[in-house]
Amino acid sequence: MKAVVGAIAGVGLAGATWTATRHRRPSAPPGGGHDSIRRADHGASPVGHSGTGSHSGPAEGLLAGKIVGIDPGHNGDNWDHSSYINRSVWNGREEEACDTTGTADAGGYSEAEFAFNVAQNLAGLLRAQGATVVLTRTTNAGYGPCITQRASIVNSAGAHVAVSIHADGGPVDGRGFSILEPVASGVNDSVIGSSQALGDHVRSAFVTETPMPVSDYYGVNGVVARDDLGGLNLTTVPKVMVECGNMQNPTDAALLIDPHFQQQAATALAKAVTSFLTTMASGSGSTPTVANP
Ligand SMILES: [Zn+2]
Repeated sequence: MKAVVGAIAGVGLAGATWTATRHRRPSAPPGGGHDSIRRADHGASPVGHSGTGSHSGPAEGLLAGKIVGIDPGHNGDNWDHSSYINRSVWNGREEEACDTTGTADAGGYSEAEFAFNVAQNLAGLLRAQGATVVLTRTTNAGYGPCITQRASIVNSAGAHVAVSIHADGGPVDGRGFSILEPVASGVNDSVIGSSQALGDHVRSAFVTETPMPVSDYYGVNGVVARDDLGGLNLTTVPKVMVECGNMQNPTDAALLIDPHFQQQAATALAKAVTSFLTTMASGSGSTPTVANP
């Protein structure tokens, strides 16, 4: 599945199924049809990934000494930089676009903004537990980085775990969150099992901490193995990509754009990361009690 944003405008979506719209804006007409979701602050920054995260945080806490990678999908100005994000990169298995625009809801609220807000919330929760957080982008007013860079930022930081935050552009009548997990690519072979374990934690936490249902249109119990995404093929740390809901579905979208839900999603991810890390550290198969991560 090629993920070249330009193909949407150039070829149209006549032959595309909903799966072909994943991680990109579903209905951009030719000629800058994304104007409606341009942000007022567009152009304020070049590539918004120069900062790779804070190394501040309390020395004590449940996550002291732990490094957590957070990858907010896409970027707010990707729409204005198609030549940059359409460049082809090697995703560990095949060629893939550097990045895509991501999707948006019917009102023009972008997946990029959603992902950024959840990431900021999540970073705060994790730092409060003593974790060091590494973000793949620290603004929603830039473009990029490429999926390859997003993976390398997290890998080179020596993260103990990472989550990539997205929202889906699924069928309008489909609801719910899904978790995309890596398939062995060679590069990621050592973290397949741990990523699946992380996915289990994320799934459980989303069920208990958010009103978003498990996807009724994608995956098995909300879990999908994907071998075509650079962010998963190229990871050397336990990692999953979370589609926190379907922006094309009005009910899901109403949640996704709500700051309260964005905090709930962050809380779910923080609890999942914390339970994953503390379970791995203890070497037990059980999930310990986690107090307000
Ligand atoms: Zn996405």
